[in-house]
Amino acid sequence: MKDVIHLLPDHVANQIAAGEVVQRPASVIKELLENSIDAGAKNIQVYIKEAGKILIQIVDDGVGMSITDARLSFERHATSKITSAQDLFSLNTKGFRGEALASIAAIAHVELKTKRDQDEIGTCIKIEGSEIISQEACVTKAGTSISVKNLFYNIPARRNFLKSDAVETRHIIDEFQRVSLAHPHIAFSLVHNSGELFQLPETNYRQRITNILGGKTNEKLVPVNEETEILTISGFVGKPEYAKRTRGEQFFFVNDRFIKSPYLNHAVTAAFEGLLKDKAYPSYFLYLKVDPKSIDINIHPTKTEIKFDDEHALYAILRSAIKHSLGQFNVAPVLDFERDPSMDTPYNYENRPASTPQVEVDRNFNPFKNDSSFSGNSVTSFRNNFKKESTAGWESLYTGLQSESSNMNLDADVKAIEFESEEVTGNLFGAQKVEKTQNSTFQLNKKFIISTLKNGMLVIDQHRAHTRILYEELLKSITVSAALSQQLLFPLVLRFSSNEIELLKGIMDALEQTGFIFSEVKVDSVEITGIPTTVSESEVEMLLEQLISDFENEVPENNFSQTDLLAKSLAKSMAVKSGNLLNDTEQLHIVNGLFACKEPSLTPFNKPVFITLPVEELEKKFM
Ligand code: ADP
Ligand code: MG
Repeated sequence: MKDVIHLLPDHVANQIAAGEVVQRPASVIKELLENSIDAGAKNIQVYIKEAGKILIQIVDDGVGMSITDARLSFERHATSKITSAQDLFSLNTKGFRGEALASIAAIAHVELKTKRDQDEIGTCIKIEGSEIISQEACVTKAGTSISVKNLFYNIPARRNFLKSDAVETRHIIDEFQRVSLAHPHIAFSLVHNSGELFQLPETNYRQRITNILGGKTNEKLVPVNEETEILTISGFVGKPEYAKRTRGEQFFFVNDRFIKSPYLNHAVTAAFEGLLKDKAYPSYFLYLKVDPKSIDINIHPTKTEIKFDDEHALYAILRSAIKHSLGQFNVAPVLDFERDPSMDTPYNYENRPASTPQVEVDRNFNPFKNDSSFSGNSVTSFRNNFKKESTAGWESLYTGLQSESSNMNLDADVKAIEFESEEVTGNLFGAQKVEKTQNSTFQLNKKFIISTLKNGMLVIDQHRAHTRILYEELLKSITVSAALSQQLLFPLVLRFSSNEIELLKGIMDALEQTGFIFSEVKVDSVEITGIPTTVSESEVEMLLEQLISDFENEVPENNFSQTDLLAKSLAKSMAVKSGNLLNDTEQLHIVNGLFACKEPSLTPFNKPVFITLPVEELEKKFM
């Protein structure tokens, strides 16, 4: 029998290795950025085309390579960073495996130009699918420039597997941010299709964070510093009141390398205990320095997890350091030496009595009067009424009063209005006649709407029911006909991180269908001039933050699931909450709207919306 085992040719081995190192354009960016940093670069520029699928180019001013090194750098296990296994325990570089360039060159068209400072002339190498096309002397400045074109050109399955440009760009920005947050002393820039996404000058940690996440960030940061024998912590946490609804601003760096650690994240969250609102995530940018010997360095190149020797001690130190910082900040918020004194109230204004602002009220205004559609299509009229109730200016006149009493006022108004509820409720509840006195529903515990059925009782969860109604409405407006928007008097400018902006861009068309109008989209903010009629201006920021968070947690695979996710997220945020008092009209409209839905019995999250209690069961209970 013939022997059957043979060694794989290099280019096949490289392609297999590449599958592990390079999953998407962002992985290339990460590897190349790390090489430039290891090469001591002070300035690093990144250019990408079509989310890196067409081109990724990184230009640095690091040490460069000799002619021989340039050629060798593409060999597998070729590295200048370690020479023996012992070196693994005192690693100060990001790379050490010597796999990245070989892997990338196996699955793309790569061109390397490099020159050391001391050399007269540089080297240019072209390599495609592990095969050297040319190597020649060339004129280039000191440092290294690598361009990677047509990633996965020879692995169509991989190429097809890539997500939309918007999603891939988000991954790239993620990697870019992680690396640049870890190295504020290096200047970075990122240009996408000739549009500049980031221009980060050399600076300190605080400024780098602010440059990346937007101008508002600076005032939110509380410094954290702690030095112990096993660990040094520096960096910042966000003030609790600025905690976000997304996990987007949570960064751990261990020895200048971004890592994810659910365990350490728990330590931070524990330090914030009692300070955060429900479902809010604290921001943090924490830089940990530990002895390289105490961490498992053999981590996989693409993994961000890490193993520490003494995790429990790290947990305790981290938690108490953050607690301490938060405590200091809480007791001494006025000791802010950086504050510009000219911003304080001028002395001569200090003792002036504050005058009450004048508010003009149209006492004849009746929000329901002109609503002719009231007994018609229940869903639309419900929306319109709801909007008026929650957004009309007069509502703010009641601030300070109990919400109950303001609703009672509204109740009185509503009672004075003539309208026919019979028609709608009539066909809903079959033969049962509903009294005109609107006593057909009532609210229990500010959470449930109770209504009667022909032979029983109906208990509806108000939040779930409204979520279902809005969900179907939103789906319709995204896919069939755009919803109306209400114009804002003044444009609303909301700040987001550039990653969040990229995400918003990906769903902007769908959002506009629901009634949002985006008049301007910048790298760190959006300007909104129109919003859905069912939303009030003050809710918009929360709504979009929640949306971003939902999209971060669940990346939709296709258009259909994107629409679905969008509708679900908005519906959930826009729906009335439990705890909200609803007047009779509102209750009725929820009931009617719900039963006009295609699938009234379940929320879009597959939770039951209502239960029925048949008379027989009630009777059993009285036996
Ligand atoms: P590793 O980073 O693990 O050593 P790579 O395949 O990423 O492996 O790189 C191989 C070698 O090529 C590096 O060890 C380094 O000597 C050289 N190299 C790569 N990129 C650069 C660069 N931008 N500037 C200078 N040398 C580089
Ligand atoms: Mg490397």
